[in-house]
Amino acid sequence: MKKRYFILLLILGFFISKFIYDYAPLDYENNIDLKTYLGIDYNKLNNKDIDKLNEKVNEINNLKINRKNINKYYELIEELNNEIKNANISLPYTDYKEYLEENKKNFNKNDYEKALSISEDINSLNEKIDKLNNSKVIENLYDYKDKIKILEEERGKLLIKNNVDPYFIDNSLEENNVKFNLIGIENKELNITKNIENKSDIILYEKIWSYIKTIIPKDYIDFISKLEIYTDGYEDTLAYVINDEEILNKWIIAVDLRDSIDYKGNFNTEFRNTLIHEFMHLISLNNTQIEDDLNQYAETYTIDEGSLKKDSYLNVFYNKFWKNHRNYLDKTQRDYLSEEEKQELIYDFYLEHENEFVSDYAATNPVEDLAETFMYFVIEDKPKDNSIKSEKIKFLYNYEELVNLRNFIIEKDKTV
Ligand SMILES: [Zn+2]
Repeated sequence: MKKRYFILLLILGFFISKFIYDYAPLDYENNIDLKTYLGIDYNKLNNKDIDKLNEKVNEINNLKINRKNINKYYELIEELNNEIKNANISLPYTDYKEYLEENKKNFNKNDYEKALSISEDINSLNEKIDKLNNSKVIENLYDYKDKIKILEEERGKLLIKNNVDPYFIDNSLEENNVKFNLIGIENKELNITKNIENKSDIILYEKIWSYIKTIIPKDYIDFISKLEIYTDGYEDTLAYVINDEEILNKWIIAVDLRDSIDYKGNFNTEFRNTLIHEFMHLISLNNTQIEDDLNQYAETYTIDEGSLKKDSYLNVFYNKFWKNHRNYLDKTQRDYLSEEEKQELIYDFYLEHENEFVSDYAATNPVEDLAETFMYFVIEDKPKDNSIKSEKIKFLYNYEELVNLRNFIIEKDKTV
């Protein structure tokens, strides 16, 4: 599979699930509000659905969560999500079968049946693998995995025949999100094609793009090649940027529709802050900052995109604030760590070094630390204390051009 490097900002709820699992405070308050949960898509519900969904929400909010009933809580959330899907509001797919069932109309009937039955076969093979993982019969395990690979290829061909890119679905499942649209940018404008039929969607996408253009200066807008609209449900990842075609000056900016705009159609403050964070990725990861080829013996800080130039923001930032944390960084890079294990490692590291980071997410790595620090540099007053996290913010004040960008964003944001 094509390698794609994600730069994420999980500004909301990043550590919530861990928090519940590890500490499960006895008086954990769940306070779901349907309007916040669905954001702008709340408006798509009819009154009957609203009543039904609110019943489920009340059931969840009345549950006093503790260690023993935490599973009950997740069950109820799943039930709520299923009812939301029944009301025709998309949420992330849990597997291929569900994707196919929801998109049945886009498929040739025969191909649909075949793809569905392949997906069922793969699911049952995966169940067998799960069972085998607890035993020592390796031979069968590889057998099943080979079979799955063949079936996946077969299903992939069926999908392509029906104009569906399997990569798109694999990616959605992997990232646990549902992608609504990927819109090209031409001459700083959205290139709306015929496949977006709904007028109100177009108005919404234009509104988001115009907001992005307000916060991010023109020169950097040219780095953005596509706008992706997705949702991973309530909270989690609010927005991210990702290299397009692995070219340093081409980026896709992705926005979680439901976390960005509330049900009244207003942008959330978290969305503005996230955009400022993503903007720093554009500033610090383009080809004025990074050598185009990856040199593992480079003397400068090196990331997946390449080796940083000596005087780049990120390289100077790394040398000043991260050099002593090399062991930790190496640990977070271990391939065999699961996503949960990685998050736990990061969160424990954050707790040990709280005065070094502006947020828990900043402790992820220097790339995210710089982006988070930049966000606080823009939205807060210049700090007066000498904690390391404040020194990081003050470090950005050394760059006149960054101070100018700060003023630009603050002024522009007032006009929205
Ligand atoms: Zn980020």
